[in-house]
Parts: sequence; structure tokens; C-alpha cells
Amino acid sequence: MHSGAWYVVILGIVIAAWSYDALAAAPQVKTQGPGFYRIMLGQFEVTALLDGTHPFPIETVVEGVPKSEIANDLARDFLHAPVQGSINAFLINTGSKLILIDTGAGVLYGNCCGLLLGNLRAAGYQPEQVDEVLLTHLHKDHVGGIIANGAMVFPNAVLRTSQVEADYWLNPANKPKAPAFLSTFFDAAIASVAPYVAANRFKPFSGDFELDSGIRAMALPGHTPGHTAYLIESDSKDLLVWGDVVHVASIQLRNPTASVEYDTDAPAARRSRRFALKLAADKHYLVGAAHIAFPGLGHIRQDGNMYDWVPVNYEATPAP
Ligand SMILES: [Zn+2]
Repeated sequence: MHSGAWYVVILGIVIAAWSYDALAAAPQVKTQGPGFYRIMLGQFEVTALLDGTHPFPIETVVEGVPKSEIANDLARDFLHAPVQGSINAFLINTGSKLILIDTGAGVLYGNCCGLLLGNLRAAGYQPEQVDEVLLTHLHKDHVGGIIANGAMVFPNAVLRTSQVEADYWLNPANKPKAPAFLSTFFDAAIASVAPYVAANRFKPFSGDFELDSGIRAMALPGHTPGHTAYLIESDSKDLLVWGDVVHVASIQLRNPTASVEYDTDAPAARRSRRFALKLAADKHYLVGAAHIAFPGLGHIRQDGNMYDWVPVNYEATPAP
């Protein structure tokens, strides 16, 4: 063949190969973007931070409602067990202080979770900037993120939770009296808080305590003995960060009687849930929920004897 003809054949093959490449299926990426979502609350900036999602074993964990009702509630919301449950935390920048409410699971829930620190950095903050860490309670998925390799993740922060909560989980004498599956929760709480205690940075508070200008603690016992919500107010805008008042919105908003086996005192947890739901609905509070689908920010609307969750409207630029 003439050398020019070879050239045409080779060029043809190259073009064909290039076209094939361009038409080949793009590989699926299968990951999400960084887990943070920002809103303004009056003068305060609030950043919801995702620690991860994990398969929540609803059918074994939810109590106080028939299994058929659980299945119906999930189906109505186009869900089926196990449902991926979010672990959310909330970072409040008041303009003078940086306050983190709950810290995710750290390494205690395995690979699903422990994403909080990466998401905090992706959101434009460093852990050294956090002035206060407020814990709603001392369960693993709220306290686990305060340490890494036994050291403080937030070395300049004061760590706070209610005194009742501290007295319960940090006292090993309570461990044998609790259900067996909670025994590692005592160990985790003690180990997580230890470096802050050693550094004299652990400062529990008592009762409905005013923590800082615009932040008030509100006792909501039952899920744990000292379970606490935080009410944040700026320019007459309110955010109720309520911790574990609701674990599965599809079930517990329609039937607030439904509890979870992690509730230390289920009747008290039910009372606290009804109180917090009615309060949020009546006062039109914005709610920050630890386990409602990320970002866990929304409103509660009363609907007869039931409640609805209305997620915040997405804003590309957070507006006051
Ligand atoms: Zn909990």
C-alpha cells in the first residue's frame, strides 16, 4: 500500500477510537458532596454538619407500636427498613463565639460515620476555633467525636452537658444496672470526656441553664436521664436543637408514643417528646434534629393528634 494510504487508514483508526472513547459510559461516582448546610438565624450563622448515615434497625429498635403500624408508616413515606438514619450536629457562630452542639460518633460507629471533622473543615472552620461544645446527651453518636486517638479534638473548647447526664454515664456503678447493650455506652462516655476532665475543660451545668447570650439549656429527660435541648435565639428568631427527641420521623411524629429501646426511661421520653413537639409547633420554632434526615433543620406542624416535619427550603445563599 502507498504510504499515504497507510496514513489515512491509521488516522481513521485513531478517529474511530477517539469517538468510541467519547461515547463510552462515564463511570458512576457514587459519593456525595461535603455534608454541611448553612442558614442564618437572626445575627447567628448556623451550620448543620453531617457525621454520616447508618442503617437504622427500626423493626427491632422501635417500641410501643405494632410492627404493622411501623411498616405502614414507613411505606407511606416511601421507605422500608432498615432506613438510613442521619447523625447531625450544629455549629453556631454568634459573631463572638463558635459553639458546637453534639459531635457525632467519631470512630465508635465504624466506617459509616465520623465525618463531622472533615465536614467542619469543608464548611470553613477549624476544630481549634470552637469555644464551646454542648452535648445534648452522652450517647456514643453525640459524644464520640470529641476525641481522636484519646486526645481532645477541640483543644480550646469548654465541654458542657447537664450535671445529671454526667453523674449517670460517668459513674461506672450505674453500668451493671443498665441493659447489657448499653454497657459500652458507659465506657465510651467515660473515655471520651476524660481528656477534657484532665484539662479542667469539662463544666457540667444544672437545670435550665442560660449558657451564653442567646443560648439556653432545656431539660428534656427520658431518652437519657439528663437529656437536654438547647434553645438558641437571635433577633427574635429561635432554633430548638432538641437532640434525640425523635429518632424516626416517619413513625414518631405520627405516633409520639413510639419509643426506642435506647430510651433509659421510655415514659419520661414520651412526655418529653410530646412537650417538645407541641412547643415547637405552637411557637413555630425552627428545629435542629440529631436524627431527622440531614440537614435535620425544619419546622413541626400540628396535624390533629399527629405532627408533620417540614424541612427548610433550600437556599444557595443563606439569607437572614
Ligand atoms: Zn441518643
